[in-house]
Amino acid sequence: DRLRPAGAEAITISVGNFKGGVGKTTTAMTLAQGLTLLGHKVLVIDTDPQGSLTTLFGKLPDAEVTEQDTILPLILGNEDSIRYAIRPTYWDGIDLVAAAPALFGAEFALPSRQTQEPEFEFWNVLHYGVDDVRPDYDVIVIDTPPSLSYTTINAFMASNGIVMPLPPNALDFASAAQFWSIFSDLTDELLTRRGLDKEFDFLHILLSRVDSSDVTANIVRQWIQTTYAEKVLPVEIPKTAVTATASAEFGTVYDVERYDGNAKTFKRARDAYDLFVSYVETSIQSVWRK
Ligand code: ADP
Ligand code: MG
Repeated sequence: DRLRPAGAEAITISVGNFKGGVGKTTTAMTLAQGLTLLGHKVLVIDTDPQGSLTTLFGKLPDAEVTEQDTILPLILGNEDSIRYAIRPTYWDGIDLVAAAPALFGAEFALPSRQTQEPEFEFWNVLHYGVDDVRPDYDVIVIDTPPSLSYTTINAFMASNGIVMPLPPNALDFASAAQFWSIFSDLTDELLTRRGLDKEFDFLHILLSRVDSSDVTANIVRQWIQTTYAEKVLPVEIPKTAVTATASAEFGTVYDVERYDGNAKTFKRARDAYDLFVSYVETSIQSVWRK
């Protein structure tokens, strides 16, 4: 039985990596779609001011998204619950909280609120903001900016678990190390100093954009597996034209019904995402049943 147990609330998952172009947004959208195919109801929150995820859902961040469609009013303290910003999407079972460039304002608003009210928890605004809607969804998927911003911290603190897409190349591997060390700085220093605690139920690294023709990928894959061991999911997302093409057409491999390119590569991409989604779903089930 895959359904959410009675009384259980939405599991929140952030897709994060401080590097851009690693596949965060693509991963967030395919994860959300794949989870609905398993019968779950999903809320997607775009916290990147660049609004790539919002764009994939067919809404242009500059033209078609107002501040009221984003987390900004919550960040500014004008709203307590994210509910005001929830909109339906073209995809059955997915609702969206969009992003727009105005969200950059969060980076000024949060530290400023902290200065004015010492009791304010700048890192927990989103965490408290989604509380009210947790009973309405099975999963909340949050896409994050490619930076360690106040917004990113809020996304992580609101999350039960993290998925970190990581292409097996040397520079991305190096930045992954920074990602995890900042993570532990956050949880160990900031929070324990305040007498608070934060534990993630799961941390998954997803090998993404894996280029089979890249000879160094094998070496770096070894480093990643040695360093992160069981955190690395036993699945790889191949770098394929169909994934890139799908996003150019505002969608993912789950939106592609007919593909004129290589059918085998298409199936490989689809199978990889299906497998990835099933691993994350297993983690979701185990948090529900804990
Ligand atoms: P991020 O959110 O980390 O910046 P994106 O998901 O936006 O990364 O991906 C960056 C670019 O790479 C996009 O143009 C996307 O279409 C492309 N891309 C992502 N995953 C793949 C893949 N598996 N194969 C080919 N292209 C990909
Ligand atoms: Mg992105």
